[in-house]
Amino acid sequence: MLDYDLHCHSDVSDGLLPPAELVARAAERGVRVLALTDHDDIDGLAQARVAALARGMTFINGVEISVTWRSHTLHVVGLNVDPSWRPLIDGLHSIRSGRRARAEKMAAGLAKCGISGVLAGASRYAHNPDIIGRTHFARYLVEVGQARDVKSVFKRFLVKGKPGYVPHEWASLSDAIGWIRGSGGVAVLAHPGRYMMGKHSMGAKTMRELLVEFTAFGGQALEVVTSSHSPNQFAEFARYAREFDLYASCGSDFHGPGESYFDIGRLPDLPMDVRPVWQLWEPAATATVSQAVEAAELTQVNG
Ligand code: AMP
Ligand code: MN
Ligand code: MN
Ligand code: MN
Repeated sequence: MLDYDLHCHSDVSDGLLPPAELVARAAERGVRVLALTDHDDIDGLAQARVAALARGMTFINGVEISVTWRSHTLHVVGLNVDPSWRPLIDGLHSIRSGRRARAEKMAAGLAKCGISGVLAGASRYAHNPDIIGRTHFARYLVEVGQARDVKSVFKRFLVKGKPGYVPHEWASLSDAIGWIRGSGGVAVLAHPGRYMMGKHSMGAKTMRELLVEFTAFGGQALEVVTSSHSPNQFAEFARYAREFDLYASCGSDFHGPGESYFDIGRLPDLPMDVRPVWQLWEPAATATVSQAVEAAELTQVNG
């Protein structure tokens, strides 16, 4: 089990817990290094950091930026970003500003198929009105009995081609990576397996084109272990990480109890043959890992 969790959400975006409660849950579950990565917002970082330090954890300033690349919506996680970096603050503000109008269109789409009052209902779930999004809609639609859980609501109402789906232009890939790298952070392509699943997904050829662009713009890591991936996908994306010389990251993508496959801090180990992303900011980890690999090789050689 890993004691790093580098992707999770508080109620500053679409998580259920306030930052300090999220940190408390992570600490109870043995997380030693935690990154809070709210969607398009860094407002929870200061609170989370205080709570994490009080518990003796290492805290990483993070964010998950919504990106439009070709016809796809992608998520790019920034780790160790500087929350006072002006281009990052302004960039995130510019993405957030479109969410309200999008939510109004989503509600209008749902009203057309007979479900009214969704904007007011979803807004009750959005503690931070700037970040209102599909998860808040999903929780409200479950509340009023339109589906039995958040996953089924997405399938029926909130994905491409469904009545509550509204196409949206998020940040460009180069801008998102630029804001992260400019602030001193590491850009991680989040849950790549998600982009290869479902009706409008990309194939292997497009994934390779994406990874070429991602690395060319300064992206350095791929999320390998995440709630969105099956064990086969851990291995598949470990291969992509090696092929594109990317570091590997891991995070639960926890939103709330019962809402993601892995709870916070309950992640399986990264595959052995990848370089963990924390080597980029923990030189000691590099030494430890390469020593461990050497030791393993010696053991093999010696039988
Ligand atoms: P938005 O940024 O408003 O488009 O919302 C995206 C969020 O919706 C993601 O971060 C997830 O939390 C959630 N989400 C997306 N797809 C699904 C799905 N199929 N099942 C459950 N939650 C999902
Ligand atoms: Mn989310
Ligand atoms: Mn995501
Ligand atoms: Mn996420």
